[in-house]
Amino acid sequence: MAKVPYKTYLTEKEIPQQWYNVRADMKEQHDPLLNPGTLKPLATEELYPIFCEELCKQEMDSTTRYFDIPGPVQDFYRMFRPSPLIRAYNLEKALDTPAKIYYKFEGNNTSGSHKLNAASAMAYYAKAQGLTSLATETGAGQWGTALSQACAFFGLDLTVFMVKVSFMQKPFRKGVMETYGAKVIASPSETTEVGRAILADDPATGGSLGCAISEAIELSMRDDKCRYALGSVLNQVLLHQSVIGLESKLAMEKIDEYPDIIVGCAGGGSNLGGLMAAFMQDKLTGKANSRFIAVEPASCPSFTRGKYAYDFCDTGKITPLARMYTLGSGFIPSANHAGGLRYHGMSPILSKLYHDGYIEAISVEQSKVFEAATLFCQREQILPAPESAHAIYGAVQEALKCKESGEAKTILFGLTGTGYFDMNAYMQYNDGTMTDHVPTDEDLQRGFESLPKVD
Ligand SMILES: *Cc1c(COP(=O)(O)O)cnc(C)c1O
Repeated sequence: MAKVPYKTYLTEKEIPQQWYNVRADMKEQHDPLLNPGTLKPLATEELYPIFCEELCKQEMDSTTRYFDIPGPVQDFYRMFRPSPLIRAYNLEKALDTPAKIYYKFEGNNTSGSHKLNAASAMAYYAKAQGLTSLATETGAGQWGTALSQACAFFGLDLTVFMVKVSFMQKPFRKGVMETYGAKVIASPSETTEVGRAILADDPATGGSLGCAISEAIELSMRDDKCRYALGSVLNQVLLHQSVIGLESKLAMEKIDEYPDIIVGCAGGGSNLGGLMAAFMQDKLTGKANSRFIAVEPASCPSFTRGKYAYDFCDTGKITPLARMYTLGSGFIPSANHAGGLRYHGMSPILSKLYHDGYIEAISVEQSKVFEAATLFCQREQILPAPESAHAIYGAVQEALKCKESGEAKTILFGLTGTGYFDMNAYMQYNDGTMTDHVPTDEDLQRGFESLPKVD
């Protein structure tokens, strides 16, 4: 019998009752959001037409260290949390590594991802404010599904703009969202001004998260009882996702472990931000010194090849400006299968931490990601989402380095979700027809040209 169990579960009582706000322990804050018209720092109230008020306050609050999780959200969490911390014994064996590999599995709910942690909070706050509906975007479909679940539960209508390539690749995702009562529209669409403009410019476009965000915001602005909800990037989302890391830390304490290395895939940064927050607190306060590694697709390399600059969060240029690592809001990534990672920007919090040297980043081509996914599912039995497989790849690389050096490091990675809706991608990988798109410097230059001038 192994000394450490395969799975370490917390009890229901141990599910965190507060979210942790890493900004409260950061030595320096990220640059403020700017009003795109005046280029002046944004006041909290200026966000009220976009998001519900409580979320606007969370977005702008860099000093409150802990936020109470509202009771109804705690009750909602109990339906799918705590999530297990799993020791990847069989992956370790296959890699012949002295490293100890742990992963936090967030895919055990219908959305198949960690996104339900934030979706339930947003739907709850919207309902509590007396709103009747939300509008959002979805790439691969996990966020749209999570928010559909949460809106159905708390009693709100939902419109989801789904990036067109994903809409075509994953028709069953639409079916799931509709089952939860959501209205799903392929983006860019003819239903919004910004969608019509993007289509006029490029009728064949497969869309992007940036376009879908613009459409969802436009729709929400039309109705006083509707607000917009975003599933990643924002400070509020990282706050809600902190539950992942708080649970992980407590579970590791139970088995007398602490991670030397924490790895997460990075799309907009929410799962990595959530997984690492409680451990980053220890680093920021001098209690520990873990390494943090973000793994992003080579087709959409915001950290590794992007610029640290003010940019719009959407293609239609209607959001406030955020300083972040970005490829430019005009950058439309190739049709990579990790739809949840196809976003031009990156969380301002993670961007700041990366800029200040607290986080490392690597990028990887998708065929290598699927190689890691295949090894993982055959050894550990869970079929990972392509997004999550980026983190697997990163963890495997670190475990192989341990094999070379003989060091028995403890690695923790986030297994954000399952890949049952990604079988077209897996089948392409299996029959050898998967291709790797890596943008050239010229491709990236076109995106950078869309950056707003802010001086
Ligand atoms: C959305 C998603 C991601 C990426 O988003 P982040 O905000 O960077 O976490 C990763 N994995 C899964 C399964 C997702 O659904």
